[in-house]
Amino acid sequence: MLRKAIIIAVLIVAILTIVYFSFERAEAESQSSYITFKGVPKLYGNYDTAVIIRLDDFVADPYYISHGFPVIPGKSTKAYQEYELDLINYLINNHPEARLVFGIVTSDNSGENNTYIWNLYREVVEEYGWEAASHTRYHQPPPRNITDILGSLKDIEGNISGYTVHTYIPPYGKVTKNELSILRENGIKIVMSDKPFEITLPKNWYDVHISLKMSDRLPWIDILRLELSLAKYTKNGCIIIYTHPTSFDWKDPEQMIKAFNEMLNIVEKGNNWITTPYELYRYSEEQSSVSIKAINSTSFYVYFDRKLNFSSQDILPVTLVFQVSGKVTDVTANGIQLQKLNSFGYVPKEGYLIRGNLLYINIVPPKSINIVIDK
Ligand SMILES: [Zn+2]
Repeated sequence: MLRKAIIIAVLIVAILTIVYFSFERAEAESQSSYITFKGVPKLYGNYDTAVIIRLDDFVADPYYISHGFPVIPGKSTKAYQEYELDLINYLINNHPEARLVFGIVTSDNSGENNTYIWNLYREVVEEYGWEAASHTRYHQPPPRNITDILGSLKDIEGNISGYTVHTYIPPYGKVTKNELSILRENGIKIVMSDKPFEITLPKNWYDVHISLKMSDRLPWIDILRLELSLAKYTKNGCIIIYTHPTSFDWKDPEQMIKAFNEMLNIVEKGNNWITTPYELYRYSEEQSSVSIKAINSTSFYVYFDRKLNFSSQDILPVTLVFQVSGKVTDVTANGIQLQKLNSFGYVPKEGYLIRGNLLYINIVPPKSINIVIDK
């Protein structure tokens, strides 16, 4: 008797399941395919948090290489040979995807004898997408003279041809009002201080705070984990990690490299976008200026509704999110097929990516896009 009841119950559940699913399928088929624009995420690729890794006190002067670098006047720190060079080699060989911003103290010996250093700096900028920032010419405390402020921009742009400096990292973390207006007039868009504490996108790009300092004396791993989990919930998170690749912050180069490996493993495990200051700046500007107009049910025109604060050659792809019912078979931009992506990567690139019923399109505006759906 009990056995019979169980069999009947199982049969009823089975029949109900079949009825339910066939009903649901019929309902889905009766609906026509549709595309709904859902918005432009605060960060490229809809990443949760932007992560900027900042290195201060890179040097370009052979004197500093052989004699050490005076971070504290009168007290030399070992910089280039063991720390800086080892770190660059380690990162490009083991973490070529991780891009960093590095502040260079150029000194005025930007001649033949340090061609090797400038070639290396050019390589990390051009091949690996690092951002070269000014850390002044002489690393003096404020108030600085005009040569110290602007000399370094000239040295960097003179030695890395075609490159424009957008970011200034003042030594000792401070600029005067006068210095800031000189920097603005000379095209600098970002000034990075060493004031805490940043976990959301910078509100003032002329005073970008830090989130975390990495050094052998600080519990930076726990702080990094905590900050990343906090930044994740803000949905426009931003973490700025900084250190000195010198004996100022590390006992020896091996210890520093081990720390970088640990840091990058933590950052890359999460949905974090490793980016650089000028890239994040441009994405933020674009994100707040981009507009979209529906042409018809599958075509859209994407454009900027105001003039951007940087050169049109520097425009990055912005990410657009659509909710799509139906199978996306193709996406075109100005009539040309867009590449289908499997991941966003850290360097913004054009293409489209499908996650469930969401379609992400990375596009450099202005352009017309068309979404092809299999009906
Ligand atoms: Zn410094």
